[in-house]
Amino acid sequence: MNNPYSWLEKSLETIHRADWYRSVQTIQGGSGAVINLAGKEVINFASNDYLGLAGDTRLKIAAINAIEEFGTGSTGSRLLTGHRELHQELESAIASLKQTEDAIVFSSGYLANIGTISALVGKRDLILSDQYNHSSLKNGVVMSGGCVINYPHNDIQALKTQLIQKRQNYRRCLIITDSVFSMDGDLCPLPEILNIAEEFGSMVLVDEAHATGVLGKNGAGCVEHFGCRGRELIQMGTLSKALGSLGGYVAGSSSLIDFLRNRAPSWIYTTALSPADTAAALAAIEIIKNEPQRRMQLWENVEYLQALIRNNLPKLKILPSESPILCVQLASATDALEVGKYLKEASIFAPAIRPPTVPTSRIRITLMATHQQVHIEKLVETLHYI
Ligand SMILES: *Cc1c(COP(=O)(O)O)cnc(C)c1O
Repeated sequence: MNNPYSWLEKSLETIHRADWYRSVQTIQGGSGAVINLAGKEVINFASNDYLGLAGDTRLKIAAINAIEEFGTGSTGSRLLTGHRELHQELESAIASLKQTEDAIVFSSGYLANIGTISALVGKRDLILSDQYNHSSLKNGVVMSGGCVINYPHNDIQALKTQLIQKRQNYRRCLIITDSVFSMDGDLCPLPEILNIAEEFGSMVLVDEAHATGVLGKNGAGCVEHFGCRGRELIQMGTLSKALGSLGGYVAGSSSLIDFLRNRAPSWIYTTALSPADTAAALAAIEIIKNEPQRRMQLWENVEYLQALIRNNLPKLKILPSESPILCVQLASATDALEVGKYLKEASIFAPAIRPPTVPTSRIRITLMATHQQVHIEKLVETLHYI
């Protein structure tokens, strides 16, 4: 008999041949604008820590205090022995930031998406999903068993056409979109999506993973940025990006959240968020509320980089962006890998993003509030030679 596992090596060879192979790289020490990558100091343009909170002393102290008081593990699921007052405080703080009736925290953003989508829709329902949506949204859709149509990226007309043709054949309908597209950096046209959803009796789930703490006057995300607070929709996000911790959340009406507490399997059947992560996220929300200057610094950095590129590198192919995520388009995965390697040699960490994560290869740059002008200038000088 053949070894039933021998296909694994063949599969890996195929991945290598396509230049799609990935492996981990070790970061030594803490997070920040400058990090130590495998023994080399590099400027970090690859972090989701937009506000620099992952290394903030106040978050660390909050986490340490929570461990002292409650221990390291939460010891059970929320509905059994895992629930602490800390979780309730965090959920209230999220609901207050988002100005929704209630919120629920999951152990990761990924779990929030798969649990929420599979709880809200099933076999008799229609899901309209932007083709560039995050993997967690796509897998939530598969798990739900609903009928899915992936509409062309941000194409409102195509979305409307699908609704006209298909909506009446299904019980419920859910439109799903990233708010900031994580691998592109552009925004979804949220007001238009909400209008269409209203017209066709459809729910909307917006993934604010890269927008929470970053967009909106109070850092509440794209919903605030577009002036859509108060409209009925399902907002999810993560505690692991601008909030510098770990975990995910959904914010919305009290009936939505109550329903999820009863029906979202990835919340019911998993261990509650750890005390340390919960306390750190709570401290981060407090900072986001009280220190808008961090968000302003981040946006100053975004504008500075965009201006430098416009003035000095007009030939660079930059994907449209309205966020701290900026992508340089490249012809192939091989080109992207080479540029990524060249940048690393020049002490700049900005990774190549390749298929199957995205349809076309690119170098993805993310800015943080903690980058200094010299870091951004060095990046632009280095990009001259690609
Ligand atoms: C990172 C991310 C998630 C998943 O969040 P985690 O907390 O890291 O699991 C979901 N959606 C989008 C758009 C993301 O970028």
